Amino acid sequence: MLLQVDPAPAKFSVERVSKTFRRGRVETHALDDMSLSVRQGEFVCLVGPSGCGKSTLLDIMAGLCRPDSGHVLCDGHEAGEAGPDRLVMFQEAALFPWLDVTGNVMFGLKLRPDLTRAQRREIAGHYIGLVGLERFARAHVHELSGGMKQRVALARALAPDPDVLLMDEPLSALDAMTREQLYVDFQRIHAESGKTIILVTHNVREAVCLGDRVVLMSPRPGRIREEFAIPLARPRDVNSPELARYATDITVALKDYMGEDVAE
Ligand code: ADP
Ligand code: MG
Repeated sequence: MLLQVDPAPAKFSVERVSKTFRRGRVETHALDDMSLSVRQGEFVCLVGPSGCGKSTLLDIMAGLCRPDSGHVLCDGHEAGEAGPDRLVMFQEAALFPWLDVTGNVMFGLKLRPDLTRAQRREIAGHYIGLVGLERFARAHVHELSGGMKQRVALARALAPDPDVLLMDEPLSALDAMTREQLYVDFQRIHAESGKTIILVTHNVREAVCLGDRVVLMSPRPGRIREEFAIPLARPRDVNSPELARYATDITVALKDYMGEDVAE
């Protein structure tokens, strides 16, 4: 189960990234010499306790925050500022309440000035279908459940066809049943789109259900402690005994060096 020599070239990587936040005299060393390499089409789940620097790392990957040192590389080149090549989906969908579902997904396509409005509408329709909301294309945000809002956020992030999709605890605010349905959909969408996805979570079962690889981060300053390959066939059932066995092994590893709450 434990990893892994990987001959394939990286689609996306962070190399030796460190970050310290300074507020007045308070310094928070969030990330320390963190490196991670992700293959084209791979689904990597980063797991770590609250405050270990997961969001900071994702923001750095997205180009929303600068590291103090280190590099973010996409296809072997410095990734630079935030752009439609690397889009983030957050825990809160942050949709525009004055736009309907189609308008929200089309908004992401404003990043593509080469497209006409009709083309944007067509692409938005495709992704709204992919996330299973075709019947709600004209619905407004206040008419949607939490799970549906996250589906819209996912369609909006996918529509500009990013090279890498970054997800920061996208399912953490949802109830368990909605989350389980979205595990099914995330797996299907990953298979259909072939996207390279990096998802951070504190939920080990979620990571095992979705990831080709589960990467464990240490408490702050965040570093990679250990990686687990998850060779389970897809689609995976989050409640299957095989999946639970991986989750238990990983939880034991996490607790071993954290001694903190870990959602199995
Ligand atoms: P996680 O997402 O794993 O919960 P974060 O990356 O959000 O962790 O935060 C890591 C640490 O860095 C925390 O201690 C947090 O308080 C601190 N931190 C994050 N962003 C800032 C900021 N803009 N200014 C100061 N401290 C920050
Ligand atoms: Mg976070």
